[in-house]
This record gives sequence, C-alpha cells and structure tokens, in this order.
Amino acid sequence: MNETVMADVFLKPKRAQPFYAQHPWVFAGAIERVAPAPPQDGAVVNLRGHTGGFIARGYYNAQSKIQVRLFSWEEATPLDEAFFRARLMQAIALRRDVLMLPTGPGFAYRAVFSEADKLPGLIVDVFGEYAAAQFTSLALAQRKDAIGALLMELLQVRGIYLKNERGMNKLEGLTLTDGVLAGEAPPPEIVLTHGGLHTAVNLQEGQKTGSYLDQLDNHAAVALYAYGARVLDAFCYAGGFGLACAKAGAASVLGVDSSEAALALAQRNAELNALSAVRFLRADVFDQFDVLVAEGAAFDLVILDPPKFARDRHNLPQALRGYRRLLQQAMKLLPGGGVLAMSCCTGLITAEMLQDIIAQCAAEARRDVQLLERRGPRADHPMSLACREGAYLKCLILRVGPAR
Ligand code: SAH
Repeated sequence: MNETVMADVFLKPKRAQPFYAQHPWVFAGAIERVAPAPPQDGAVVNLRGHTGGFIARGYYNAQSKIQVRLFSWEEATPLDEAFFRARLMQAIALRRDVLMLPTGPGFAYRAVFSEADKLPGLIVDVFGEYAAAQFTSLALAQRKDAIGALLMELLQVRGIYLKNERGMNKLEGLTLTDGVLAGEAPPPEIVLTHGGLHTAVNLQEGQKTGSYLDQLDNHAAVALYAYGARVLDAFCYAGGFGLACAKAGAASVLGVDSSEAALALAQRNAELNALSAVRFLRADVFDQFDVLVAEGAAFDLVILDPPKFARDRHNLPQALRGYRRLLQQAMKLLPGGGVLAMSCCTGLITAEMLQDIIAQCAAEARRDVQLLERRGPRADHPMSLACREGAYLKCLILRVGPAR
C-alpha cells in the first residue's frame, strides 16, 4: 500500500470547519491550491488549513466531484496496511461483538459500510462463507488486492467477489470489472437463512452486492402485518418482503419486478420455502399499477420498495413525481384500514420529506394516514454522525384509513 504523502491540499479561508468535525469529503470548491503540484489520482495527500496547519490525511482524485476523501486525522499515522487492518477490525467488531450478528454458512451481514465505518469507498457484504466487495472510490480500488488479502484474513471467508455499480465507475474514473478479488470463486447459489426463511443469493449475477441486506429486518417487520392479508410486493427483487409475508400467513402475495433475473431468484426462493400462495409477475410497476387500478384490484398490504430515483439534485423533481405517482396508485389499491409499507432509498429525500409526500397524496385522496413505524436499515448499515449523507434508507409503515 502506497503510504508516501505526495502533496498538500490547502483549503480556502473559512472552509476547514467540516473537516475538523471529521467530514470525509473535500469538494473542489473548498480547495485553494494543491502543492507542489496535483498528484496522480489515488495518491495520498495531507489536507491543510489556509495557514498550513495539518487537518487530515486522505486520497486525491481530480476525476471525482469529491477531490479528497479523508481517512485519518492523525498526522503521525500513515495510511498503510496496519491502518487498514485496524479500521477493518473495528468495522467487523461492530457486527460481531456489538450487534452479535451470527456468522458462518447461512448468515449474511454488511461487514463494512464506507463512510459509516470511516472507510470511504469500500462496501463489503458477507454471505455465508463468501463475501462481495464494492469499491466506490478510485484510491481504494487501486489498493483492492491488499484490501482483499486483509479481508480474507479478517473475515475468514473462502472467497471475495468484486462487484461494480456502473454509474459509480463513471463518477470516479474507475475501470473495474466484476470478478474474483481473492480466494475462491463463489458458487452460483448461496443459501441464507433469516427469520426462518431461506433465500438463494447469486453473487455473480445478483443486483447490488448480491442482495439487499439493508432490508432484512424490514422484511420481518412488515410481515407482522401480513397474516390473512392480500399482499402486493412492488419492486420485489428476489421476493424478500413478499416471501416473508407468505411465511407469516398472507392469504396471497403478488410480487412485481421488471427484472427477469430477479424474478427467477424470487421463484427459486418460493420453492426453497415451499410457499405456494405467491405469484410473481414481470412488469413495470408503474404500468402494472395502472392495470390493477383499472381492474379494481384490492390489497390489504401494499409494499413499495423502488430503486433509487435520484442520484443528484437535478433528478430530484422527477424522483418526487415518481414517488407521488406510486403513492397515488397504491392508495387506490388499498381498502380502508389497509397497510402501506413504503421504502425510499433516495438519500436526497429525507424521512420528513417522504412523510410530506405521503400526507399530500393522502389529502388528495381524502384518506387519513397514520404512521405506525418509522424504520431504517439494519444496524449493520450504520450512519456516521460526522457524515449524515450516509443516511439513505427509510421504511415507513402506515395505515391508510377509508375515504372520507
Ligand atoms: N424489495 C427488494 C429490493 C428491491 S430493489 C428487497 O427487499 O430485497 C428494487 C427493484 O426494483 C429491483 O429488483 C429492480 O429490478 C426493480 N425495478 C426497478 N425499476 C422498476 C420498474 N419500473 N418496475 C418494476 N421493477 C423495477
């Protein structure tokens, strides 16, 4: 691991405060100059105040909007293998010693969550005896082999698979491709067990790192409302919510997703659990909602878990229109007293904003809405109070009253 400091990044006057408070992102607008010269992308740099005092150490990337990602606030600490070992051990200790999440075959958890674990640009999910790693910053991607070796040792897994998000590669100037990062290639199917439900995960083909672990506890929480209910699981992916509902005694479950591969997994998962009251449909949820509303269909529990609709502020108005449309239609499908489980993983939309949108749609539909539960991701997806941009997933469970 390259630990030599290659340049000093000086901030403009009065721009240092967030970094003293350990915010890890330095945008170009805060930077006055890079001395003696801008280094290669991915190089180690020291962040200094306007008058030259050391603030923090991190990695430089001129191709990213975030020009420096900060890792250490100790001037004497090099960003070497010992540093990464300690950071990774801290992250893993949270999951194993504090959250006491079970490990080993059948269990899955997020071991490293980027800024939340003071490792900006690294996500690691463990699936039984294998792990999936995702690099979202150039500097760590350049050091992927060393990080992979450390993870093999610390996680005690048989292999680590590298996953990429296309959009992120572009934002950071990354040129990674999916493949084995360290150890053995994972088998095409890894079966996990959570809350009595078996789910097959395919690390190579699956979305994200293979599964949406952030929603694991929400699947079980929403399923508590499913007994005897007609359930609509919109944006179902591998069926996480819907299958938990079926297991909990739902009268029927309809899962809808536009991805054929996702539905193949969902179908496989229904079989693994011998659940028969479940049906999966390949369709665009927006279109399918129109069809269901036109048919006069009714569901006692509607689950909405759409993908991220906006990456930046430019897309926000369009994203808000998308959520609004889904909510308007969902309310038409819910009889009085029905339950709506609305997830939103767009970080730019806060829980308060989401509640406002739901309240507006409810007012238009002349329905009273009560908030029953305000949930977030499982605790293995924590948020650093120094970097609240890391808060992304909201899962609101609401009861929608009859039309007034
Ligand atoms: N509910 C799942 C995660 C859903 S992720 C769970 O808890 O595990 C979002 C899903 O929405 C993805 O599976 C993606 O294929 C699907 N999707 C995205 N846009 C869609 C659309 N317009 N119509 C239907 N499905 C869509």
